[in-house]
Amino acid sequence: LWAPTEELSRIAMSVFITMLFGFSFSHYLTEQHQELRRLANLDPLTGIGNRRALQRALAESVESSIRYACTASLLVIDLDHFKKVNDAVGHVEGDRVLCKVVELLRCRIRQTDRVFRYGGEEFVVVAPHTTLANATRMAEQLRRHIAALKTRSDGPISVSIGVTELIAGESVDDWMERGDRALYRAKKTGRN
Ligand code: GH3
Ligand code: MG
Ligand code: MG
Repeated sequence: LWAPTEELSRIAMSVFITMLFGFSFSHYLTEQHQELRRLANLDPLTGIGNRRALQRALAESVESSIRYACTASLLVIDLDHFKKVNDAVGHVEGDRVLCKVVELLRCRIRQTDRVFRYGGEEFVVVAPHTTLANATRMAEQLRRHIAALKTRSDGPISVSIGVTELIAGESVDDWMERGDRALYRAKKTGRN
């Protein structure tokens, strides 16, 4: 307080500059953090939500079903004999097929539905307020559209789909497990 004016203004300027750097650095860190969080939920190949994002969407559906007594269905979609597609046309072309399938899924589902990449050639559509009958119709339409896709593969791309409607009170894991079992049955009984 007793310092000369010149020294005081120098101290004030230093404090001001330090604060400015502090604020801009913390702003930069916050932006980086948000970007990292966004990327952590995305599949890098197809740009759709990954398994982590799926888990959150399923939890939200289960939560809504408890709170608002509304239903939801899910479709577990697996490309048939995709290993053979890769062997025939190569991995890069295989990647393109995966992207094409995702593009189609995104265009064909309703705005309130969401699609996620569950694993390699497996995708899950979460359809809120959708009964088993409607979800099954949707699965059949998707199957037909995917089979009509133009790719460099020898034959059409076929998919098997497990469809399940959420049972009130069941957990995310139980719901997903029933979807997996339905998919397994589709595979066992002839695929496509
Ligand atoms: P099924 O009808 O029983 O599902 O047979 P499948 O060959 O599709 O299943 P399998 O689990 O034996 O093989 C999955 C194949 O998917 C093998 C793997 O190379 C391929 N795959 C997984 N992820 C990717 C990817 O990101 N890109 C490409 N090109 N292929 C992938
Ligand atoms: Mg699979
Ligand atoms: Mg497969």
